[in-house]
Amino acid sequence: MAAIHGKNTKPEMIVRHWLWGHGFRYRLNHPRLPGKPDIVMMKYRTCIFVNGCFWHGHDGCKYYTIPKTNTEFWVNKVKRNKERDNEVQRQLASMGWHSITIWECELKAAKRENTLESLSFTLNKIFLQDHSVKHYELPDEEPMMAAEESPTYNTERE
Ligand SMILES: [Zn+2]
Repeated sequence: MAAIHGKNTKPEMIVRHWLWGHGFRYRLNHPRLPGKPDIVMMKYRTCIFVNGCFWHGHDGCKYYTIPKTNTEFWVNKVKRNKERDNEVQRQLASMGWHSITIWECELKAAKRENTLESLSFTLNKIFLQDHSVKHYELPDEEPMMAAEESPTYNTERE
């Protein structure tokens, strides 16, 4: 079971299904980005992390309660996870990527629709900002079509 640890967890599937159903396209676990983000949206240059409230230490959340035994161990473990999350997001930002964190508790039935609607709003806002404020150089991966030869048609009919 180790091979699928952390993959296709239910909260992540909720987000993926919703995105797909609303026309957003993504890649999973993009290998070349720091932190191997859960969901990578190339068009929006955005990584979405779906975080478990306990493992990632969701501050002020009722699902983030440190166990009464081995307290120090758990406190340190969660602290390290949070530090890693921050470092990953800092690296992504330095590469020009946006990061969006969705907490597991925000995907519970009562909050889910609001959370996902605001995710869609945020993605659209990011897209507009990135495409209206910056002045991009001409992309060189899209060659001009003018060089293409005109097709010759055989118009003779007999
Ligand atoms: Zn939470």
